[in-house]
Amino acid sequence: MSGTLHGKIALITGGSTGIGLATAKRFAGEGAFVYITGRRATELDKAVAEIGGNVRAITGDIANLDDLDRLYATIGEEKGRLDILVANAGTVELRPTALADAEHFDKTFNTNARGTYFTVQKALPLFIEGGAIVLVSSGMNVKGFPAYGAYAGTKAAIRSFARTWAAELKDQGIRVNVLSPGVIETPIIDVQFTTPEAVETALAAFKSIIPMGRLGRPEEMADAVYYLASDQSSYTTGFELVADGGVTEI
Ligand code: NAD
Repeated sequence: MSGTLHGKIALITGGSTGIGLATAKRFAGEGAFVYITGRRATELDKAVAEIGGNVRAITGDIANLDDLDRLYATIGEEKGRLDILVANAGTVELRPTALADAEHFDKTFNTNARGTYFTVQKALPLFIEGGAIVLVSSGMNVKGFPAYGAYAGTKAAIRSFARTWAAELKDQGIRVNVLSPGVIETPIIDVQFTTPEAVETALAAFKSIIPMGRLGRPEEMADAVYYLASDQSSYTTGFELVADGGVTEI
């Protein structure tokens, strides 16, 4: 198979749904061999069937360091290296700070911040020929929306990690960049709210502040990740690509 990512080995965490799934399809379509990971075997099986080829799923929780070790041991045994990592898995729970407990805080930080940190750290020995790492943050990393405090804090941490890693990994030929999506039509929208009416109200409120007047599509995020992961961005590192219909930019 030909394609601009032909011969590349990629891993996408949270690759069974939403932005991760769209990115897996994009990469596989460009000829990469794509590993996807997530916690739910049934969702992963569905995604593998949808992607069609050049893909393999491995179950695992990014908050669990043993799962990460097992994931990288498998990729090491099967392919011997990794060229592209998209640290995309993430979780969100709306909780006004006054009502938050330690469980909410720890779950959010253990997945999004600690999980992303060790997803990258434990992948490094497999980057034997240089490569590209893309971290998925959020436009929320510069906003102060009520109830998103812990989530936004983790996404700001991710934006910061990219600066340090871009500096630390440049001599190994690894570029590290960030995608910060705005409001994108994926399953993570619905899980934030308890009723369909609440989803509609929230989406109407978001649309009213998005200059482009619409939500983003997962495929549009996949194009942005592709840019950061491919040689098209060969002179770019430590950068944050914001794809949010202008909401944090105008
Ligand atoms: P999604 O819910 O479809 O994707 C998130 C994926 O991460 C899911 O597959 C989920 O199973 C996986 N995941 C969650 N916790 C995990 C864990 N502990 N271990 C392994 N996998 C885990 O939603 P999405 O919108 O595609 O989200 C992808 C990324 O984009 C997330 O990091 C999210 O924070 C970020 N993001 C999304 C939006 C949006 O509006 N959709 C906006 C900004 C940022």
